[in-house]
Amino acid sequence: MNAPEILAGVTMERLSEVLRAHAAPPYRAKQIWKWIHEKYVIDPHGMSDLPEPLRGILAAEFLAPSLTVDARIAAPDVEKLRLKLHDGEFIEMALLPARDRLTFCLSTQVGCPVRCRFCASGAFGLKRNLRRGEMLEEFLTGIAAAGRRPDNLVFMGIGEGLMNFGELAPTLAALTGDFGFSPRRITVSTSGFVPGMREFAKLRREYTLAVSLHAPDDATRAKLIPDDCRYPIAEVLAAADLCRSENGRDYTLEYTLISGINDAPEQAEALGKLAYAHHAKVNLIPYNATTGEFRRPAERRLREFEERVGATGARVTRRVERGGGSDAACGQLRIKALNGKV
Ligand code: SF4
Repeated sequence: MNAPEILAGVTMERLSEVLRAHAAPPYRAKQIWKWIHEKYVIDPHGMSDLPEPLRGILAAEFLAPSLTVDARIAAPDVEKLRLKLHDGEFIEMALLPARDRLTFCLSTQVGCPVRCRFCASGAFGLKRNLRRGEMLEEFLTGIAAAGRRPDNLVFMGIGEGLMNFGELAPTLAALTGDFGFSPRRITVSTSGFVPGMREFAKLRREYTLAVSLHAPDDATRAKLIPDDCRYPIAEVLAAADLCRSENGRDYTLEYTLISGINDAPEQAEALGKLAYAHHAKVNLIPYNATTGEFRRPAERRLREFEERVGATGARVTRRVERGGGSDAACGQLRIKALNGKV
C-alpha cells in the first residue's frame, strides 16, 4: 500500500493534478502553494481564502498536518519539541536561540541505525526513515512554535541523515528552492557514513558538513561506533575533503568528549594534528549523560583538552551546552515516550 501523501511535501505538479481531478480552478494551486510556502500553514482548514469544499478535498487527499506536537519542553536556552507522527512514532526537534539568531535542529529518521554507544537516539536502532514531507513539516512546525523563520537549519537531531539520502536530498532542494532558504545556512551532520558523504558531495551545493569523529584513531572510535556503520578515519576524512572541494564549504569535526575513553592529552594532540592537516575546525562536545556507562570529563580536563588541540594550530571551539538538565539532551524525550514515562 502506498504511504499517504503529506501536504507539506507536495510538489506544484502533484497539487495541480489533484485540483484537476476535482475540477477545481488551476489558480487555486498557487493560492495553496502560498499558504504552505509563504504563510507556513499546512492545515487546509486554516487556509481562509479557499472555499470550504476545497479545504475538505485537501484534507481528504493529504495528511495535513501529518504530525502533532506531543510534548514541549523549554529550558532557558533551548526548546525541545517531541513530535508524534501519523503512524504513532515519535521524533524530536529543537529550537535553539542565540542572541539575534534562531537555529532549528531537525531529525531525519525515527531512531538511528548507527547506534553509537553513548547516544540515546540510537538505543533502539532504526524504526524507519522520515519522508521529505515529514522533514519539511518539522521545519514548518518549528516556525509555528517559534513564531518566526529560523536563521539556520542543522540536521543533527535523531538519525543518520546521509543514510536517508533519497529523502534528505529532495528535502534540502525544497528548503533552498520552494522555501528560499540559503544553502549556506544549512548544516548536515554525519557519523562518517562514507557512501552518503560521496553522494552529498555530488549535490555541489554550499551546504556545510559536520562529521562526528569522536576519536583520533580507529581503535578508540570502535569503542563508540559499532562495526556495521563505521568506516576507517582515513576514508571518512577523504570523503569530507571531497565534500569541501565539491560544495565549497569547510567542514567541522564533531568530538564528543567522554571521560577515560577519548579525553587523554595524546588524543587531543592527535586530533589537533588531524584537523590541522585537513583544514577542519574541531567542535568539542562534553558528553551529556543519558546512560550510566559513560562519564563526562571533569571541567579541568575539558579545558586542557581544548588547549592541547588548539596548541597544534587547529581551530577549535567548544559547543555551547543546552538543555542537559531538562530532558532536552538528544533523544531523551523520545526515549521517555517509548518507555511510557511522559
Ligand atoms: S549520535 Fe547520531 S549517528 Fe550516532 S546513534 Fe545517535 S543519532 Fe545516530
